[in-house]
Amino acid sequence: MARAFAKALLCLEATGEACGHCRSCSLFDSGNHPDLIPVGIDGESLKIEQIRELQRTLGFHPVLSRRKVVFLPYMEKMTEVAANGFLKTLEEPPAAVHFLGAAVDESVVLPTIRSRMQLVRLTYVPAEEIAQGLIQRGCPPEQAGTIASGSQGLPGLAIRRFQEAEAATRDWAALLEEAELLPLLRKAAEAEKVPREQVGQWLDEMAAYYRGRLAVGGRETAKKTLVILEAIQTARNRLAFNVNARLLLEGVFLRICN
Ligand SMILES: [Zn+2]
Repeated sequence: MARAFAKALLCLEATGEACGHCRSCSLFDSGNHPDLIPVGIDGESLKIEQIRELQRTLGFHPVLSRRKVVFLPYMEKMTEVAANGFLKTLEEPPAAVHFLGAAVDESVVLPTIRSRMQLVRLTYVPAEEIAQGLIQRGCPPEQAGTIASGSQGLPGLAIRRFQEAEAATRDWAALLEEAELLPLLRKAAEAEKVPREQVGQWLDEMAAYYRGRLAVGGRETAKKTLVILEAIQTARNRLAFNVNARLLLEGVFLRICN
């Protein structure tokens, strides 16, 4: 979609759609259009050096078409410094330059940048379909449903949320596997700095971990695991009330290390 738009902007026939046969269109198709400036990522992110390089090239006139098109397929990968640099370009846009940006998640693009670009939402995928995709990637169905319904129809965003959740689960698993009081208490102290929903998520992660253990452990382990699960559930319920989250977690952790 972004490519078709860029091609139309550059087309020499300038009818609003790409004609498909002018010199511009054929150069575009071969990937050698001199006035199309793609700005991808350098390693993991879109860096300020790339934005500076871009700014240098924008001073020149278009070679073939009536305008230049800058295409940024990974807007969400901009570093903060790069985003601020890019913002300056948008604030004083050079003549005859169009900026096309794409991002899997508009919310991670700086609001000041978003407000200077016109937003076109592409390809909403039904939540049901996204959930299926997540399940195929090994996501438990219940979690897939939750992530999918919060993903604004964007599969890329859903997959990233799933990966983040998986990483969080791994972190918890490592922490709980060890069952050392000190690291756990340090984690409890963190509860004072994060929103309560986050603490709720932690408790859910923990519960998931112990439910998994329940499935594989012997009878003796099962007994203790059930006690822990109950403690987690109690903490989860009390979290809704105005209870100190850190104390709640400490209570659960003491139970675990007991
Ligand atoms: Zn054309």
